[in-house]
Amino acid sequence: MRIVDIREVALPLSANIQNSVVNFAEHTVSLVALVSDVVRHGKPVVGVAFDSIGRYAQSGLMRERFIRRLAAAKPEELLAAAGDCFDPEKAVKVMMRNEKPGGHGDRAHAVAALELAFWDLNAKLRDEPAWRTIASRYGIEPSASMPVYAAGGYYYPEDNLGRLQDEMRRYADMGYAKFKMKIGGAPLGEDLERIEAALAVIGNADDLAVDANGRFDIATATSYATAMAPFGLRWYEEPGDPLDYRLMAELADAYPHRLATGENLFSRQDADNLARFGGMRKGKDLFQMDPALSYGLGEFQRMITSLEDQGFARSEVYPHGGHMIALHIVMGLRLGGSEAYPGVFAPVGGYAGECTVADGGVQPGSAAGFGLEAKADLAPHIARLVAG
Ligand code: MG
Repeated sequence: MRIVDIREVALPLSANIQNSVVNFAEHTVSLVALVSDVVRHGKPVVGVAFDSIGRYAQSGLMRERFIRRLAAAKPEELLAAAGDCFDPEKAVKVMMRNEKPGGHGDRAHAVAALELAFWDLNAKLRDEPAWRTIASRYGIEPSASMPVYAAGGYYYPEDNLGRLQDEMRRYADMGYAKFKMKIGGAPLGEDLERIEAALAVIGNADDLAVDANGRFDIATATSYATAMAPFGLRWYEEPGDPLDYRLMAELADAYPHRLATGENLFSRQDADNLARFGGMRKGKDLFQMDPALSYGLGEFQRMITSLEDQGFARSEVYPHGGHMIALHIVMGLRLGGSEAYPGVFAPVGGYAGECTVADGGVQPGSAAGFGLEAKADLAPHIARLVAG
């Protein structure tokens, strides 16, 4: 068994929206396909994945380094010992040849997309959804559905508060029971009015989280914390720069409610530093590292093991995501939950039609692998990529 072709295409994301830091209209995603020599129903079995949302396609890094190294590897360098499936860990070792440690930037996304495609391929070889493959590989009792919340709460140039409330109502009508909105894109007073407007629709402050997308310095982060504390919101996400652990530690002393961060940390070492020096409170604060941005599932599992060794619980891990890959990983590893971005970030954002949202959870559907081919807007892109 071997990989006969590796393909990649950069897809634009449909999202003309903005948080406090970036406009997503420019963002792209690398969709990758590992074509195996195993043929079923007259077609090769193909592993498919992508490098999450909110960053960029990694076409150059993949072509120049990571796809080239995989393509040059001997079949046994990518196969599990029994030879009946691929070994994503071995694939990462091959991809990381001649790479220095540290400096975990865009290469972590490139390697992640390709590593996750091996997981998709393995699940398809076993003809089962990826959450089953993941759970059995790590000996975990998987969850039956993924706790999900609707992430959005954007800024609008006109009728800002009315449109924010309409957006929250729309999510509630879709079956979502928990929500997240942006802060930091307006002055504090205006953001407080936005939070009050959203709460007027949602009702319970414990159902609404806020996300500053890493924008604040310590003084601004603390003013927001002081002003928001009386609400008792579900969590306060990424207040400052992702690598500013002192800011997180100071905020954890000043803010009595839950903090969340980690979506822009791409290695086990970075996540460890957050746990050690970021003041993260056991049983309260949330970790949001994204396996599809940080070298894939193997590195992500090492992050979780390390957090558990330090006394944190896997239910306190809420990966960034909003797509099918995160859904299968959260279920397979029995994590706390993840997000959805209803109506934006197509074609990779969102869930396949058969993945129903009910009672605060989303179901994975029955398709093999991550089920990406079952997503109507993504399927034509996969078909084109595989057809070459
Ligand atoms: Mg966020």
